[in-house]
Amino acid sequence: MARSRRESATIGAVVRELEVARVHDVTVGMRRVTLTGERLGAGEVDGVAVPAFSTPGFDDHVKVLLPSPGHDRPVLPVQEPDRLDWTAGGVRAIHRDYTPRRWDPIAGELDLDFVHHPGGHAASWVGAVRPGDPAWIVGPTITASLPHGVDWLLVAGDETALPAIGRLLEELGPEHRAQVFVEVADADHEQDLQTRADVDLTWLHRDGAAPGSTDLLPRAVMAAEWWGGEVFAWVSGESSMLRPIRQYLKTEHAVPRDCLDLTGYWRHR
Ligand SMILES: Cc1cc2nc3c(=O)[nH]c(=O)nc-3n(C[C@H](O)[C@H](O)[C@H](O)COP(=O)(O)OP(=O)(O)OC[C@H]3O[C@@H](n4cnc5c(N)ncnc54)[C@H](O)[C@@H]3O)c2cc1C
Repeated sequence: MARSRRESATIGAVVRELEVARVHDVTVGMRRVTLTGERLGAGEVDGVAVPAFSTPGFDDHVKVLLPSPGHDRPVLPVQEPDRLDWTAGGVRAIHRDYTPRRWDPIAGELDLDFVHHPGGHAASWVGAVRPGDPAWIVGPTITASLPHGVDWLLVAGDETALPAIGRLLEELGPEHRAQVFVEVADADHEQDLQTRADVDLTWLHRDGAAPGSTDLLPRAVMAAEWWGGEVFAWVSGESSMLRPIRQYLKTEHAVPRDCLDLTGYWRHR
């Protein structure tokens, strides 16, 4: 049996130094940073030929490299053919994972959407970043297709999963059906998501509770109407909500492992 109904592929790791073209608040809780630069195209890094940036899968992620406090630049890994040497400067660069929300190869623009939250290197960086500032990314280094051979999708996530969910809905065709649950702080954090698919989208509001502290997503998944046929479940967000959802899908609906894709995107500490 295949390990997943999603076909995955690896992409050689490339470090790219880019420039912030625009910064725009999509909602009160989400800041979009548009990156641009020659390094998104094919070229040479550290004397090594590298391919153009690509992001074939809706939930691909890049590593955003961040300067240490008091520094202007992160310690960059050294580019080698198809891989990076992260230990070159003696210190591994600080990095955090973000989903390419939009990639326009004609305009040469890449959008990353950052959730506002207190604390954290990435949150501080995005709070201060301005057009013209440098930015550094690595990846994506792995990508996966849409699931095949299933009748519908069950999708759930908090706002960190919203860039991937937004892309997924845009990439689904009219032949797809999906039930989608997204947890956000309140109605001001909802986004206008476009799709051609047959989608039931439900926004769940924390209404004052801290991110990562509620059981809104597990409860919503457990109360979801169970459609007929084979389901593929994609769930991402704060790690602690994954276990009850996985348990429920396996025990109550016998969803096989190759139809489950549950990923912790951050941990409430
Ligand atoms: C594959 C993948 C894709 C991801 N895509 C995105 C994306 O597109 N957009 C996005 O915003 N995030 C995304 N994330 C999540 C993001 O990488 C984490 O939230 C990351 O920890 C933020 O780094 P930081 O330096 O700001 O905070 P950290 O240094 O990691 O943590 C500092 C403090 O902030 C808390 N914290 C971290 N993240 C959050 C949060 N979202 N809300 C509230 N508190 C938080 C931690 O619990 C900790 O107390 C993705 C993660 C993965 C694994």
